[in-house]
Amino acid sequence: MQTVVSGIRPTGKLHLGNYFGAVRNFLEMQENYRSYFFIADIHSLTTHPTPGDLHGSVRQVLAEYLAMGLDPEKCSLFIQSDVPEIMELYTYMNMNAYLGELERSASFKEKIRTQKDNVNAGLLTYPVLMAVDILIHKADFVPVGKDQAQHLEMTRQFGNRFNRLYDVDFFPEPQAYSHTGELVKVPGLTGQGKMSKSGGEGDAVFFDEDDKVIQKKIMRAKTDAGPQEMNAEKPIEILNLFDLMGLVCENDVIEKFNDDYNNCTIRYGDMKKQLAEDMLKFVGPIRDRIREVKSDDAFLSSAAKIGAEKARESAVKTVKEVREIIGFRKFY
Ligand code: AMP
Repeated sequence: MQTVVSGIRPTGKLHLGNYFGAVRNFLEMQENYRSYFFIADIHSLTTHPTPGDLHGSVRQVLAEYLAMGLDPEKCSLFIQSDVPEIMELYTYMNMNAYLGELERSASFKEKIRTQKDNVNAGLLTYPVLMAVDILIHKADFVPVGKDQAQHLEMTRQFGNRFNRLYDVDFFPEPQAYSHTGELVKVPGLTGQGKMSKSGGEGDAVFFDEDDKVIQKKIMRAKTDAGPQEMNAEKPIEILNLFDLMGLVCENDVIEKFNDDYNNCTIRYGDMKKQLAEDMLKFVGPIRDRIREVKSDDAFLSSAAKIGAEKARESAVKTVKEVREIIGFRKFY
């Protein structure tokens, strides 16, 4: 069975974009791959060395992924800091990562601009830690977006360099995971971009959010005066609403509103009401499950423990072999 690794940022509540863009793929992967999904709490220190509530953020994300169906029996859902072997391999891999290439990384260049007063060494070696997350499980695949392509390339470079330096064929070359379906971009409710946490009040539909709040956001989504001629082209705000319908509504419902649009008889109020109703049908059960899981300390603890055990099993083996390859020998 092939191995896949993916990181999750502990950045709080998940929204519809996260579900359709990431979680849904994870649910598929855990069925077909040896899957390692980790909550990247160590990485998060590069931006916030003293995070306000690190444990709380990790807990929220852990609970949400579990509630959405990641199964500790099928995959390894673990917390990065629970696997100290990652730190050990990071130390070794830092010895063959060079200043020039690290400085050229696009993410480092961006951080230099965005957090001028906290350009720490961890930021510089971020790509090394990322490579280790992947290499430590000898991953075949990593599901990455375009923005991460450079990091994956660096991972291959570090792995290959290790192989060359020590004259071994140890680390495989991880490939970008491409799933069969098309990449979805879930639009936000305000503006023209994709749904995001930083998209401002009302942009994202979060799962851990009450019905009324979600309803209100949808009813407030921007529309226009309505089509002025038959079969008119849809402006972006309207396309966005149809896209969102595509995720949660039945086909005949979407077709009806599409026909209404084309006939110039559409009533946006009705359309948004329908979207809100179907959205709540979809989000509601997941939200209830999130709240159940969040208050179930025993489940969270056993899930994190199983995840860490599985991840450590693989990490301990890799690090033991790396030590042998490098030439560390015990005297006792
Ligand atoms: P973030 O925490 O915002 O980096 O999101 C985590 C993952 O969710 C990303 O890597 C994307 O794959 C996915 N994602 C976030 N927002 C969207 C969106 N609006 N549409 C599709 N996928 C998204």
